[in-house]
Amino acid sequence: MTANAVLITGSIALDRIDTPTGSRTDILGGSATYALVAAGRSCPVHLVGVVGDDFPAEGLDLFRRYAADLSDLQIKSGPTFRWGGRYRANWDDRETLYTELGVFGSFAPRLSASNRGLGYLYMANIHPALQEAVIDQSPGRKLVVVDTMNLWIKTTPGELRRVLKKAQILLVNASEARELTGRRNLAPAVADLQALGPGVVVIKRGTRGALLFDGDGATQVGAYPVPEVVDPTGAGDTFGGGLIAALASGEGLNEALVAASALASVCVEGFGIEALQGVSRSELEGRRAELRATLRPWKGL
Ligand code: AMP
Repeated sequence: MTANAVLITGSIALDRIDTPTGSRTDILGGSATYALVAAGRSCPVHLVGVVGDDFPAEGLDLFRRYAADLSDLQIKSGPTFRWGGRYRANWDDRETLYTELGVFGSFAPRLSASNRGLGYLYMANIHPALQEAVIDQSPGRKLVVVDTMNLWIKTTPGELRRVLKKAQILLVNASEARELTGRRNLAPAVADLQALGPGVVVIKRGTRGALLFDGDGATQVGAYPVPEVVDPTGAGDTFGGGLIAALASGEGLNEALVAASALASVCVEGFGIEALQGVSRSELEGRRAELRATLRPWKGL
């Protein structure tokens, strides 16, 4: 196992996506899938998750291409997790059409001996009890990055708080930060989140870029201006995969923010993982250079 290996867990899904300009059914998705495709370009990724016996062979082929280790990818009899989402005309509001847990309903991650020693953990969005189970089986952990969503803030706040206690970096959007803390303004909300555990909080702001809060204050990065958004699904998960891969490769926090933002900007240019798979190294480098130039201290509320 190499020092920059990353353990990723989260959902693996077959998604239905409706946007104002097109739709797709049963395409490969899930928070862990996006994070894997983002991180797997530059780091050995060990994937922890579950799929059903209906999971397409092309999906498994893709995992073999992007992951270095699939020993903790379980294949169970039953249906794969399925999720459907529909974007409204403004592209920002998303309605969940359905969430069918399938084999995720009874998933109990049990890490193989070789996966217990990894230093870098990315807990993509999934039930916080599953995130905690993976963290607790990782005594070699040095850096735990956690993503979550409003569903868990509402339904399992206690479990989520236990996960936050064990995390060093939390990724959320502004409305999630407010919901988690009951604070209206961002700076005090982030201070409350930091008091729960993660010393670093990243606020994802979609087309407005992202904010990084560490002990020393806040830094903002812009969003790369993509010519046309095709499907925003998975941008946050892609951001998370890009962030942990950069940190595992020894980059600093600001550069990791830039790398994550560049990958997320590519994600939205195609349905599912389509655009991410096709992007060249030089295109990503170009986007990183433009985004690096947007880094500046943030002084807002
Ligand atoms: P994002 O656009 O960053 O919210 O990520 C969307 C991805 O998250 C989709 O591919 C879904 O399959 C997956 N997803 C949606 N709801 C859930 C959930 N409750 N738990 C885990 N993954 C989910």
